[in-house]
Amino acid sequence: MHTFTFVTPGKVLCGAGAASDGRLAAEARLLGKKPLLVCGKSLETSGMLARILATLPEAQVHLGVPPEPSLTDCAVAQAAAHGCDSVIAIGGGSVLDVAKAAALPGSVYDYFDGKLTVPEQALDALPILAMPTTAGTGSEATWVGVYTDKRGTTPKKASIRGGAMLPRTVILDATLSVSCPPHVTAYSGMDAFVQAIEAFVSRGANPFTDPLALQAAFDIAEWLPAAFRDGESLEARERMLIASYCAGMALNTARLGLVHGIAHPVGARTGAAHGLLCALLLPPVIRFNLGADLDRYSDIAIGLGAPREDLAAFAEKWLDDFSIPRHLSDLGLQRSDFDAIIAETLVSGSTKANPRTVHESDVRDVLEACW
Ligand code: NAD
Repeated sequence: MHTFTFVTPGKVLCGAGAASDGRLAAEARLLGKKPLLVCGKSLETSGMLARILATLPEAQVHLGVPPEPSLTDCAVAQAAAHGCDSVIAIGGGSVLDVAKAAALPGSVYDYFDGKLTVPEQALDALPILAMPTTAGTGSEATWVGVYTDKRGTTPKKASIRGGAMLPRTVILDATLSVSCPPHVTAYSGMDAFVQAIEAFVSRGANPFTDPLALQAAFDIAEWLPAAFRDGESLEARERMLIASYCAGMALNTARLGLVHGIAHPVGARTGAAHGLLCALLLPPVIRFNLGADLDRYSDIAIGLGAPREDLAAFAEKWLDDFSIPRHLSDLGLQRSDFDAIIAETLVSGSTKANPRTVHESDVRDVLEACW
């Protein structure tokens, strides 16, 4: 017997060139007459923003969302959404998450502090159209936004979530991600891979998320090396967009695991890219979980063509292949932060979904293994 919820965006349109050939404009007009277009500087630099606006002149632009966004970035975007009736999000996970906050009716601080609950009804917020330019966080497929709260002395990274934050329409256009530099391709691709693995072995996995997560892991293993080597390959970019979208659909309700439980407090303190941290933490977390003899890792190993006991080494090799830093000590973290990081990890929803129960010493062992 199963008890679960599964939700996805209402419509997905996949096609190279859709951003600028009129298809994005047509979809946007189904959601509203006065959209706020939220994007990062890279969309302007690549020349793509001008091409999009040529087809969508009614859009009001909110440009310049930084990586690893703060609540302040969200509040600024919320103010920009005033007078708009829909939100178009075009960017990496940071842009997509800020756009989700911009669509909400109440103050983002109140949602983050638990004073307000994100509405479950999509009708209670501005409708969102999401186009990822990285592959990726899968944020275009989730009802989650991840933000850093910089109000206190120690920054805190956490998520807010709810039905109204789920995009109504998603467009996957590989021409938007060809401009990703290799390190962004590697970090965001590893984020997608870790999400697929954690969603598959999660305690919250269900019969809908299982095939999505597994196929995503296999496709990323096949196509991420190609996208990293040849960023201009539209085929590799599109396969990665589809795979990370599948991983996003899976994690949205399956939840994640210990890698994400640790990555958030470490990310808040270092500002390091989320995907980099996920990649670096994956091998020791696999080793920890394999200690509980979990069958699900065998399914992953078979598909990846690696012996089950070599999965961690497989993930470790990618760190070298993609030039991903291996040591937390190189990222500005202090050993004196360990106790606070461990405390935050143990109460995280991701850690609670980890297939093996996690104790304080287990988190410390993972941090030491990456030090
Ligand atoms: P990002 O959005 O932070 O972008 C990283 C860098 O790449 C930025 O400098 C950006 O300008 C640049 N960039 C993005 N697309 C580009 C392109 N096509 N060409 C050139 N440069 C480009 O990176 P990300 O990995 O996509 O997102 C990370 C964020 O997403 C983190 O804050 C993470 O916590 C969050 N996240 C959210 C979810 C969710 O479900 N909401 C899931 C996972 C991660």
